[in-house]
Amino acid sequence: MANHDKFYINGQWATPSTKETIDVHNAGTGAVMGTVPAGAEKDMNAAVDAARAAFDAWSQTPPAKRAEYLSKISAGLKARADEIAKSIAQEVGMPIKLSARIQAGLPIAVFGNYAKLLGEFKFEEQVGNSLVVRDPMGVVGAITPWNYPLNQIALKVAPALAAGCTVVLKPSEIAPFNAYILAEVIHESGLPAGVFNMVTGLGPVVGEALVKHPEVDAISFTGSTRAGKRISELAAQGVKRVTLELGGKSASVILDDADLATAVKGTVNNCYLNSGQTCTATTRMLVPESKYAEVKALAAEAAKAFTPGDPLAETTRLGPLSSAMQLERVRAYIRKGQEEGAELVTGGAEAPEGIEGQLRGGYYVKPTVFGKVNPKSTIGQEEIFGPVLSIITYKDEEEAIRIANDTIYGLAGGVWSGDAARAQKVARRMRAGQIDINGGPFNMAAPFGGFKQSGHGREAGVYGLEEFLEYKSLQLKQ
Ligand code: NAD
Repeated sequence: MANHDKFYINGQWATPSTKETIDVHNAGTGAVMGTVPAGAEKDMNAAVDAARAAFDAWSQTPPAKRAEYLSKISAGLKARADEIAKSIAQEVGMPIKLSARIQAGLPIAVFGNYAKLLGEFKFEEQVGNSLVVRDPMGVVGAITPWNYPLNQIALKVAPALAAGCTVVLKPSEIAPFNAYILAEVIHESGLPAGVFNMVTGLGPVVGEALVKHPEVDAISFTGSTRAGKRISELAAQGVKRVTLELGGKSASVILDDADLATAVKGTVNNCYLNSGQTCTATTRMLVPESKYAEVKALAAEAAKAFTPGDPLAETTRLGPLSSAMQLERVRAYIRKGQEEGAELVTGGAEAPEGIEGQLRGGYYVKPTVFGKVNPKSTIGQEEIFGPVLSIITYKDEEEAIRIANDTIYGLAGGVWSGDAARAQKVARRMRAGQIDINGGPFNMAAPFGGFKQSGHGREAGVYGLEEFLEYKSLQLKQ
């Protein structure tokens, strides 16, 4: 059991104002792993006060000095990488091997990269008779979800600190233990008191208190479109800058000249990563009508490799979902797909076989593929956040592009073709923030974010740093 009973405020472990706690469940077994305190508005106010008080000095700390702290934090996370991987494998359910590489590996790299970037970034330039300087935004409120919990925190905290902002973090209540590891690492790095603060609790309580607080200058949020809308409404009252990384319903467009075996396997792998709980998951596979039978067989074959199992076992490829609520949601979508007349190629809503012993209490679901999905149907439009792939057929390239863009989201996508130039032409017409061509690998330095209701603003690399900066021009007398 990992029971935490403190917040991290003003460089110290602070006692919560109430005795309320939140249970954290092990996704693999359903058992309670421990608790974290459920903060109240008073706790959040104390954290914001600390961040405000620390801002002046931190914003004037030279970038090279700020970079030293970021490097120390990266090294501190690296020293605890195994613990982070194991914690997230249990909190979220991602298989341990992947958790080590992605859930623990990415945050270490993100802090390290921002330390490096600070060495190169130009905080000012001369434009005519003006000196244009880039000031930190101020106090940043960071609110994060559970699916890649520490990476989503790192993508906000590292660039905000690099920019010279101070931060109050409200991590996900479903996977908060990894955030405590980060707070401990930050504490050990000697970061000045108040520069980083953390309060755990429920979104509508401490999350909203953070967004509404008049001393918070900017909000960086990753999570559902529903919560993103609410946060925007509240932040508008204080005319605050808001960065939103929200949901997605991304299309993998397989063109008629693509290597089908590679394209289908690549799409299924992308869709099922983290049991489908990835905002950029390509959950709609768009294929030429004439190739449907072949694609269907290849997809069923690829899905079979994802046997659900214990996330702590080295050989598991498909872990459980993160919570009982998520399990219910995903099963309901699978039933809905069947009711709406899609062809169930493989999988289904019933519990998978082979889940034995204490794993029976975990949140396992069958890897599922639907064929002949109507693009306008519920499973063709809504984000499911589970290992559920929808195959949609199209008549020609124009129709493929139209279907790919016909959703409220625009986060990610993929295009597969034997002709890379043709693939790029299609990708350029897709209204989404990042599109992989023929399985092009993830690039940490590229901007990450969405079009339409997938949000606005960008994270990662220099683009993520710029979100936390404000321009100021000083007109010089000539
Ligand atoms: P969620 O919106 O329920 O919660 C995210 C965070 O917001 C949590 O910390 C929660 O406590 C807080 N929150 C909830 N309601 C709030 C409110 N009214 N005010 C302030 N804070 C509030 O989302 P989730 O279930 O944790 O995450 C899943 C969603 O996140 C999916 O829709 C997924 O697509 C999206 N996501 C997007 C990205 C991206 O970068 N675009 C990345 C990962 C996840």
